This record gives sequence, C-alpha cells and structure tokens, in this order.
Amino acid sequence: MDIICDRTKCCGCHACYNICPKNAVEMITDEKGFKYPVINQKKCINCGLCVKVCPILKNNVNKYQKKVYAIYNKNEEERLNSSSGGLFILLAKAILNMNGVVFGASFDKDFCVFHSYVEDENEIIRLQGSKYVQSTIGDTYKKVKEFLEKDIYVLFTGTSCQIEGLKSFLIKDYDKLYTQDLICHGVPSPKVWQKYLDYQKKIYKNNDIKNISFRNKAHSWSLFSTRIDFNGKVYSKTHDKDLFMQAFLSNTCLRESCYNCHFKNDYRNSDITLADFWGVSKVHPNMNDEKGTSLVIINSRKGQELFDLIKTECKYEVSYEDIIYLYNPAYIRSAIKDKKYDAFYENIDKMEFDILVKKYVSHISIFKKLIRKTRNIIKKVLDK
Ligand SMILES: Cc1cc2nc3c(=O)[nH]c(=O)nc-3n(C[C@H](O)[C@H](O)[C@H](O)COP(=O)(O)OP(=O)(O)OC[C@H]3O[C@@H](n4cnc5c(N)ncnc54)[C@H](O)[C@@H]3O)c2cc1C
Repeated sequence: MDIICDRTKCCGCHACYNICPKNAVEMITDEKGFKYPVINQKKCINCGLCVKVCPILKNNVNKYQKKVYAIYNKNEEERLNSSSGGLFILLAKAILNMNGVVFGASFDKDFCVFHSYVEDENEIIRLQGSKYVQSTIGDTYKKVKEFLEKDIYVLFTGTSCQIEGLKSFLIKDYDKLYTQDLICHGVPSPKVWQKYLDYQKKIYKNNDIKNISFRNKAHSWSLFSTRIDFNGKVYSKTHDKDLFMQAFLSNTCLRESCYNCHFKNDYRNSDITLADFWGVSKVHPNMNDEKGTSLVIINSRKGQELFDLIKTECKYEVSYEDIIYLYNPAYIRSAIKDKKYDAFYENIDKMEFDILVKKYVSHISIFKKLIRKTRNIIKKVLDK
C-alpha cells in the first residue's frame, strides 16, 4: 500500500492509523504543522483496511428529517463558560448520568490540543469551550470501541471529519454510541498555534500560562475575546484584534482539506450538530441577550432522544432549516483560502509571529471596517 487518500483531501481523522492491525500507519507532522498518515512499508501487509475506513473515500448520506432549534442552557455560569449557548456540557452530563464516558477536545499541560475522555462531571470543564486548533485524535477511536464493547454509553464529540472517521473505523453501529459535531469554519495549524503561544510567552516574560479561552464573553458573546491567564497577568483581546484569531478567521492557516471540505453537505452523520446561532437577534430576538445562543440541529432519532433528556434545562425556540444556510454558511460552504496562504507558510519559520501576521494575513480593509461600524451605530440607534 503506498497512499491511502489524496493528500490535499486528507482531513487527518486518524481512522487509518487506528484500524491498522500492524501499526504500519504513522501520523507524521508536515512542515505546516498538520499530521498526515504515512505507511511504513516494512510493516504493511496490504490488508487494505486503511483504505476501507477512510471517510474521504466514502459518500455517506443521512435521510433523517432534521430539526433545528435556537437554544441556551438556563444555568448562566455553565453558559458563560461555553462558546455559545452551553449545550455541550448538558449533553455530556446526560451521558455521564448513564455511567457513560465523554470524548472531546482538551488542552495538554503545554496547551496543545488533543482528544481525550472524561468519566466524572468535575472533569467536563477540560472539554468545554472551542479550541480553534486541529485536535489530535491519537488512539481515541480504539478507546471508544473498548468502552462500547463493554456496553458502556459513549458520547464522542468533535468536528464532522472526526465523527466520520470514528464511524468509519467502528464499521458497525452501536446502540450506546452518541455523536455530536460542530459547524466548523476549518481547523488551524497546531504549528501556528505553538508559534503564537511562544510569541505571547516572550511578551509576558516566560510567565506560566494557567488558562486559555478562545471565547471569553467579557465584552459580549458576538464580540468574543481570546483570554490568556498568566501567572498574575492577563492577556485579553477581541477576536478582530488578536493575531491568532486574525490568521484563523482570514483563512490563512487552515488545513488544506478544509478549503474543500468533504463533509460540508446539507446533512450530517452525527446525532446532534452544535453551532453559534449567528443571526439570532433577527430571527429569534427573545433568545438573544449576548450571553451566547446555540444553533442545534438534530440529525437522528438518537439525537432527538438525547435532546429530549436535556431540553427542560434550556430555553429554546423551534427554528428553520433555511436559517442555517443564511446565517451560518460554514454549514455547507468551505472556507476560501487567503491569497497570502503560501507566502504565510513560506515565511513561518523566518519571522516573529506579529510580523508574519501583519505581513501575510489579509486583513479586513479599513473601508469595510468603517461600513461595519456605521451599520452597528445605526442598529444601536434603531434598537433604542
Ligand atoms: C475549529 C472549530 C471551528 C468552528 N467553527 C464554527 C463556525 O464556523 N460556525 C459556528 O457557528 N460554530 C463553529 N464552531 C462551534 C462553536 O465554536 C461552538 O463550539 C459550538 O457552538 C458549541 O458550543 P457550546 O457552547 O455548546 O459548547 P462548548 O463547551 O463551547 O464546546 C465544546 C465542544 O467543542 C468541541 N471542541 C472544542 N474544540 C475542538 C476542536 N479543536 N476540535 C474538535 N472539537 C472541539 C468539544 O469537544 C466539545 O464538543 C467551531 C468550533 C471549532 C472547534
């Protein structure tokens, strides 16, 4: 076996890595900081399992008539500690109450992002909150299978490609497996993230980092900030001013496959999809207090069952499918690559992070910023 799937399409889901019976698939980090499978020919027995489970080589379809809600968690503390409406923590608690386990993205001690699992409610906080970096799956799919084979409930959460990778790896359906994905803008490079952290540490004189939030709501939910708690000092900048978020939202540092995402369809194979309910002030004004509102899409019977378990702990209104396409185009459309993408990566090892971003990230023009500001002022006046 030489290659598994086209490198420009490989989403890095790790299904091939987890399935290989001879550990012949190694996940090697490339020059941009993303992991790709490479086959060790000495170990490979040409069984073809890696190709069989590759979700990129499949075309799954889900015919379930989806349901859409605008929703938020009534517990204000849980909601404020979450990226949007704080739905994930409720789903996680529901599964833990059934003596299950919950998988999701967490930080390690160096603030690299990787998938892990929790078995105790006090640990959910590790998985809570969006981390805008590609999370390394490692051998978590094998762990999921071990739990399911022991008849234990599992909630697996992640991006759509990670859910597809898991389902492909498992081959068969398990009654006790629940999956939740996200509407995903795309995943930034772990190398770019590391470079940003090194830059911040230098500015803060190598102080220890205690905590990081990509979605601090101190200003508001829509004007969220990146907040880094150092030992005794705090860095906080809104997403339009933070250098890492500028590179992320300008599509300069996403994985190659994100620019042509295989999983951007008008269906999902997860049970539940979570996202921010952008546009909520127009569509469901009663649901917007700027503390975070989620868009929830129910994609299966199991998803509905799980939703029914938590809905009494939420405020919600039934919404409409068209709203997703209108206000959250990332549901069906891939990000468009920044024209400075190649130059950004060519210079990543040559420049300080701030200079790199200022030079090679396409910023929103002053003219567009002015229009946006004027629009906001008019809106505020009309709202009074
Ligand atoms: C890389 C990325 C891109 C996103 N892009 C969009 C977008 O374009 N539009 C939109 O509306 N919403 C997007 N989201 C989703 C949004 O940010 C919230 O995560 C979502 O609304 C859930 O919020 P919550 O308040 O219910 O729970 P939270 O507690 O905020 O979310 C926790 C959930 O996010 C998962 N998660 C966190 N980081 C990662 C990661 N790196 N990889 C995989 N899973 C992760 C956890 O496993 C858990 O399931 C994105 C999320 C990520 C991670």
